[in-house]
Amino acid sequence: MQIIECPQCGASASPAEHKCSYCKAEFFVTSIAYLSGFDKNGLNKYVAHFKKQASEHPNGGEGWLGLGLCYLQTGLFPMAQKSFEKAIQVAPELPQPYYYFALSKISGRRLMSLPLNEIREVENYANTALQLESESALYKLLLALIKSDYYEENGLMVNAPTMPDILAEIDGVPVNKNEIERLRQCVLVEDESYLEEITIN
Ligand SMILES: [Zn+2]
Repeated sequence: MQIIECPQCGASASPAEHKCSYCKAEFFVTSIAYLSGFDKNGLNKYVAHFKKQASEHPNGGEGWLGLGLCYLQTGLFPMAQKSFEKAIQVAPELPQPYYYFALSKISGRRLMSLPLNEIREVENYANTALQLESESALYKLLLALIKSDYYEENGLMVNAPTMPDILAEIDGVPVNKNEIERLRQCVLVEDESYLEEITIN
C-alpha cells in the first residue's frame, strides 16, 4: 500500500516510509495507544486517511483496522464493529481486529449483564486474538475479566485458567497505559483491584 501524503500535516511521503519525516505521525496505526495522543481534529484527519485507504485498498487490513480504531476511540461502537469485521474478513491473520471487535461489542457494558451468546462471541474473538499473538498480556487481561466478571459473578463454573491464574501469568509483563484506559472504558468492572496487579508502561 502506498501513502503519498502524511494524514496529519500533508507533507509528501516516500513509499518506503512508515511515519512522516516532518511531524512524525504514523501512517499505519494498529493500536489505540497511539491514537489516544490525538485530539478530535487529529482523529478526524486519520478518519479521512483510513477511509481513503479502505476505499483504495479494500482488501488490505490496515485501512479498516485504522478506521475502526478511530471510531472506537471516539465511542462510535457500531461503526467500529463494522470496520473491525471488515478488517477480519480481508486480513484474518491480524490479531488486533479480533481484540478490538470484542471491545466494541462489549461497548461499555458490564460483562455480567451480557447475554450468554454475546459473551461467547466476545470470548471467541479474544481467544482468536490470543492464538494469533500468544504473548499479549492485553488479550489475556480481557479473558481474565470475562472469567471473573461474567462467569464468577453469575455463579457459573469457571474453567481453568481462572482470573488469578491469568494475572499470575502476566505478572511483570507491561501493558500500555492507554490500552488499559481503553479497556476500562469499554468494559465496566465493579472491582478494579485487578489493576493493582498489572504492570503499566
Ligand atoms: Zn506529517
